[in-house]
Amino acid sequence: MDETSALINVRDKDLWEEMMALALKIKHKVYDNRIVTFAPLYMGNRCVNNCLYCAFRHDNDLAERRVLSFSEIKTETEILAGKIGHKRLIVVYGEHPETDADYIAESLKTIYNVKVKTKRGWGQIRRANVNAAPFSVEELKKLNEIGIGTYQVFQETYHHETYGKVHPKGTLKSDYAWRLYCMHRAFEAGVDDVGIGALFGLYDWKFEVMGLVCHSLELEKQFGIGPHTVSFPRLEPAANTPFAGGGKHKVTDEDFKKIVTLIRLAVPYTGMILTARETPEIRREVVSLGCTQLDASSRIGIGAYADGYSGQKGRRQQFLLGDTRTLDEIVREEAERGRITSFCTAGYRCGRTGECVMNLLRSGQEGKFCKLNAILTFREWLDDFASPLTRTVGEKVIQREIEQIKKEKWSVYPKLVEYYERIKNGERDLFF
Ligand code: SAM
Ligand code: SF4
Repeated sequence: MDETSALINVRDKDLWEEMMALALKIKHKVYDNRIVTFAPLYMGNRCVNNCLYCAFRHDNDLAERRVLSFSEIKTETEILAGKIGHKRLIVVYGEHPETDADYIAESLKTIYNVKVKTKRGWGQIRRANVNAAPFSVEELKKLNEIGIGTYQVFQETYHHETYGKVHPKGTLKSDYAWRLYCMHRAFEAGVDDVGIGALFGLYDWKFEVMGLVCHSLELEKQFGIGPHTVSFPRLEPAANTPFAGGGKHKVTDEDFKKIVTLIRLAVPYTGMILTARETPEIRREVVSLGCTQLDASSRIGIGAYADGYSGQKGRRQQFLLGDTRTLDEIVREEAERGRITSFCTAGYRCGRTGECVMNLLRSGQEGKFCKLNAILTFREWLDDFASPLTRTVGEKVIQREIEQIKKEKWSVYPKLVEYYERIKNGERDLFF
């Protein structure tokens, strides 16, 4: 905490540049040149809460409310997994009896059951992370059985007074401590993969960074496992939601870069999610400060993947998006910048989660498995979903990766070549 507070207050421009360069170096050490992509899937916009910044808040009379049926969830997933080529989702829920833990469990089952034939193989969601309300231990146990992925709950603001102002009294969300300790309950329930975050713009960003670091250290201390991901969304405009326009704590682009740098330096092992709330220009710059995950082809209107809804001023979504580029475009751009998009989820399926993955990440070893699996899953994706141009650019990156492994004489090189050739010939889902 002392070190973070010292770095937060650095004024010297050169020193900031040095810190930013170091952030990228750390990211490379832990995650190499890999980027992971995902899409948000919003399940409904009914909510009992009244968060002043959110278009889903109960009192927003202009919102068109609905909750997806299981057959609609199936259709949305078929598009995401079968047409766009996503393997990972963040599934987002309002807090409402219609989207309670039973609904969430059933919706996750529905998502995992979707399997779509593609050109060469199958499109399937292999990892569904969840962003939802803070649950009880019992509810979390239920979700853990289905396979909840990373359980994300953002504290929004760590500042008590502000928390009280933006989450009106009498609503479920007004209970600061219930929200703060939900990750403790998650560990108690056996969910060892959790994501934390703050909504930047509600209060002084420096305070929120300290809050996030403190929260991470507390989880490490109590459970030996820190957050698998940290999110740092900036407050966006939202329909019929004046508060979301940005007040005196609105975070400038310059400060946003500092936030990302500080989180990377203070929580070096964590995954960092840079969402399509930000514009392409900002994402291009900020991803190089140590981010690991980007969403792409994102639609956040309820049911919007199926009906093509992209109404940015609409009444069906929580806030406005800054980046509406497709997965193909983002993968291509990352490849042009020398980064490989990994569609790998093998780590979770082989039990490399929780404490195990923390140790691997801390020692830089997880990177080895990931590098191999990134090559294999990227090859799959290029064959199944990429445009011709993206395939050409992507193949160059793969060749470079394979060459590096050969040059460094990794013992698994022959096995990698064997798997790679088998995938090229149409086999799927081979991993280390
Ligand atoms: N309802 C659950 C909750 O509030 O925790 C989960 C879903 S909520 C739709 C996901 C996150 O979106 C919130 O935790 C909040 O940080 C973020 N959010 C809400 N309004 C936003 C806005 N206007 N701009 C950017 N992010 C926003
Ligand atoms: Fe509901 Fe979450 Fe929006 Fe608050 S942020 S109104 S809890 S959906």
